[in-house]
Order: sequence, then C-alpha cells, then structure tokens
Amino acid sequence: MGSSPETEHPVKAFGYAARDSSGVLSPINFSRRETGDEDVRFKVLYCGVCHSDLHSIKNDWLNAKYPMIPGHEIVGVVTEVGSKVKKVKVGDKVGVGCLVGSCRSCDQCGADQEQYCSKNVMTYNSSIVITYGGYSDHMVCNEHFIISWPKDLPLDSGAPLLCAGITVYSPMRYYGLDKPGMHVGVVGLGGLGHVAVLFLKALGVKVTVISTNLKKKEEAMSKLGADSFLVSSDQPQMQAAVSTMDGIIDTVSADHPLIPLISLLKPNGKLVLVGAPTKPHELPAFPLLFGRKLVGGSLIGGMKETQEMIEFAAKHKITAAIELIPMDYINTAMERLQKSDVRYRFVIDIANSLKST
Ligand SMILES: [Zn+2]
Ligand SMILES: [Zn+2]
Repeated sequence: MGSSPETEHPVKAFGYAARDSSGVLSPINFSRRETGDEDVRFKVLYCGVCHSDLHSIKNDWLNAKYPMIPGHEIVGVVTEVGSKVKKVKVGDKVGVGCLVGSCRSCDQCGADQEQYCSKNVMTYNSSIVITYGGYSDHMVCNEHFIISWPKDLPLDSGAPLLCAGITVYSPMRYYGLDKPGMHVGVVGLGGLGHVAVLFLKALGVKVTVISTNLKKKEEAMSKLGADSFLVSSDQPQMQAAVSTMDGIIDTVSADHPLIPLISLLKPNGKLVLVGAPTKPHELPAFPLLFGRKLVGGSLIGGMKETQEMIEFAAKHKITAAIELIPMDYINTAMERLQKSDVRYRFVIDIANSLKST
C-alpha cells in the first residue's frame, strides 16, 4: 500500500495544497520528517506568494506533482534543532528560499552554487524527493539551507527577498552590474523588478525602469527611487536611449522582443534574463557582434550568496512592497496575481491565519 501525504512521515503538519491543475488551493493534513541531527525545525510565520507558485499549481511547466503545497519565500522561528546544528538555536528567526537540498559534493556545490547542482532539491514540487513548501504550519530543513535572519530585517516584507531578492541580486554581482556610477535598466516592475531597483540604487547604480505601462512611472521614480523611466512602446524615447546602458536585468515572463533591449546596451553591455517566457526568444547575431554584447541568464543564488544578500538588504533597509493576506484569501490572491493586480508581492500571514481543521 502506498503511503499518503498524511502518514508518510511521523510528524503531523497542516497546510494548503493544490490537488490538480485548476490551481485551487484547499486545506490539507500532511506530515513531515522527524528532526534529524543536522535539521532545523521551525514554525512558519510568513510566506511570500511567488509567480512561480501560480505557474506550478496550474502545471504551466508540465512538471506538477499533486498534492502540491507551494511556497518558497518562507520565514519563521526555530522550534527544534538536531544535535549537530551549529548555525541557529531554538527561538532564532530563520528563512528558507527555493532550495532545501543538493548533493553537497559536485563542483557547483563546492563553489557555493547549489542552485546549479544537477541534484538539487527544490523547496516544493521537487523532482528528486517529495517536498512541501511554506504554505504550511511548519518546515524542517537541513541547516545548510537555512538562512539566519538579521535582527533588524522585517519578517513579512523581508520574506520575498528569499526568491525575488536573490533572483535579481545574484546576476548583479555575477555579471558585474554592481559598480557605482553604472547605468542599468530593469525591465518589468513586478515582484522581481521592484526589488531590483532597490538593490541597484543601494549599490550606487543609475537605474532606468523599462516598462510597457506608463502608469508605473510615478511609483518607479518617487517610491522606488529609479532615475528614469522608459515606455518600451514609445519609439522616440527608446531611440533616444540607444547605447546608454551598461546592463539590463530583464524580469519579464511574458513574450517580448529582445532586440530593442539589446540596442539600449553600450558596447560590452550585458542583458540578463531572469524571467522565463514560454516561447523562445528571437536572438539575431548582428546586434551582439557589433558591440560585443552578451545575453545571459541567471537562476536564484547559492546559500552563501543568499545569506550575503539578506544581510545587504538589512544593512540598506531593503524590503519588498507587500500586501499581507490571510491564508484563506489565497485563491483570490492567485486570481489577482494572474492579472498582475498586486503592488508588488502578496505575503501570507501564516501564523495568524492558518488554522488546522
Ligand atoms: Zn519564486
Ligand atoms: Zn551538487
């Protein structure tokens, strides 16, 4: 007889799961493993709602395993630690992002790039073992994948940094778009884009937001501190900005042309994709050759870099703009997220609103 989510492990747990590709979330009793020697168990306080959660529950990437408990922007308070745990103690605030495991022995793991380990374990819907995410009352995780939460970083508005934050921070560092005085474009002003602006400004970089939506100009400039704003459909504006940027972080997951963005880059400029449109991009060689330009990608970040990012955020008072919601609002929140009707991230107030039945 196969084991059910409720009985496969010894410790009772409760959360919200999608049962099929309708993506509707509903309460679920399930179970988690006992606290191993290197494990940290924590009560979940807040969990961000990432756009990936919506794609995953609706099986947009054709890899869904149900029941699926999403959530990979998780913060909480430690309730139990294994005998070998050194990083944190009971009562400490901690975070877990997109990863809960990796092989720990390959070149990528050795270079603190667990995100590129071929055997890494995603926080939910993992293809390697069954994992359940942060839309749940508690988590248990190897201490290597636990982020120590800085004292002065808010828990609710800091939670989205664990995915959205590291997704934009890592490429700024890796591709060298982090030097004061540089000019970097941010395409798309959603969950990822708005924190990209904040990190770049903290690094002393001049930031231009590139968006299809002129309505976002005021917010981008006055609230987030962007230096300028480009409407991507406005040809004269785009033309005037040709060859002015050292780099661009493209956060957009909807289909859109890259050629106009490449033309905004100076020679040696870098266009970094962190959004994932379903249709392949058109990428002609000539605009890259004439200017030695580079188009690259980037996926979240390793554990060491995620800890560094979260400490940088605390130091520079960077948090996400959030709308705090109760657990039972999640299906409405998903409908609104589908329409981009959120400024800029929903965060679930798990501890105060997830009630076991
Ligand atoms: Zn995410
Ligand atoms: Zn590895």
